[in-house]
Amino acid sequence: MRILITGAAGFLGSHLCDRFLADGHEVIGMDNFITGHASNLAHLAGHPGFSFIRHDVSNYIFVPGKIDAVLHFASPASPNPMSPFGYTNLPIQTMKAGAMGTHNTLGVAKANHARFLLASTSEIYGMPLEHPQKESYFGNVDTIGIRSVYDEAKRFAESLTMAYHRFHEVDTRIVRIFNTFGPRMNIEDGRVVPNFIKQALKREPLTIHGDGSQTRSFCYVSDLIEGIVRLLNSDEHFPVNIGNPVENTMIELAEEINRLTGNPAGIIFMEHARVGDDPQRRQPDITRARTLLNWQPQVSLEEGLLKTIPYFREVMNHA
Ligand code: NAD
Ligand code: UDP
Repeated sequence: MRILITGAAGFLGSHLCDRFLADGHEVIGMDNFITGHASNLAHLAGHPGFSFIRHDVSNYIFVPGKIDAVLHFASPASPNPMSPFGYTNLPIQTMKAGAMGTHNTLGVAKANHARFLLASTSEIYGMPLEHPQKESYFGNVDTIGIRSVYDEAKRFAESLTMAYHRFHEVDTRIVRIFNTFGPRMNIEDGRVVPNFIKQALKREPLTIHGDGSQTRSFCYVSDLIEGIVRLLNSDEHFPVNIGNPVENTMIELAEEINRLTGNPAGIIFMEHARVGDDPQRRQPDITRARTLLNWQPQVSLEEGLLKTIPYFREVMNHA
């Protein structure tokens, strides 16, 4: 296949490029570097199957030649308002990437009779009142909350994807990604895993926002990529959760990272750093992924962290 991947210079996009190239496909990466970095693709320079187009997906997209699949991953993804890469500091760009970017990438898929896969998110469930979250749950999102620029853009993107499927018969997929981590996350984007690892490697206390009782369920990147490949190769048009169902509090995560890095500095609680609509609990129900895709995660949190910590150590040594 000849595959267009938007957000290719980001964390997940760059791993997708690697995977599809390794499987023998041709990949065209697209990115405007708003939160990603060219260094994530440097190792692909000169690869005969890879090409790159620097472009903002919010504007009309032209890609020469036939495309067989489009994977739309371009969007800021960190909620942390203390980071310049956080989507609350890029609110209009985030809404445009989710709305116009999804419209433009669906247009490419329609014109090419290509498969389309949307990177959606557990954030569409908002502050969930159902736990764990099944795909049938409609969510609980504040339309004007601080996170709404991301949540509502992704909800719109899901609706538009289904509209193109139902009305234009585009062969679409929707993956609802739960917290995924690994090498090539932007160390400055403020998401909890890179932030904690950076602090631990500097021998600083880890900053817990709020009281640390909030939970997340962390998936290692190789597991997520496998799930996405299986979904793309399936015939499933309705959303599928992909994530690791093992749930941890932020206190547990911080203690694990301090243990694995040997950081003696402990943790500090920043009571007021937690934004109002930061979900209190999040855990995927992955029954659909298990039954439809025969997929489940293989990598534990500890194993994943042990693969990720050396990457950030390297990044910090070269900073
Ligand atoms: P990331 O910030 O590392 O990657 C996003 C990439 O998209 C960056 O390279 C950025 O420069 C690019 N981009 C943003 N807006 C763009 C635009 N208008 N035009 C072109 N490129 C643009 O984040 P990530 O974690 O790799 O996230 C990738 C996708 O997966 C996002 O759509 C995100 O919403 C989704 N997602 C990620 C997670 C996760 O845990 N990592 C969870 C849920 C959903
Ligand atoms: N968080 C934290 N300290 C940090 C960064 C994040 O306690 O330095 C918390 C944040 O408030 C949230 C959780 O960690 O409750 C996960 O945050 P992340 O930014 O990774 O993404 P989210 O899952 O909220 O989209």
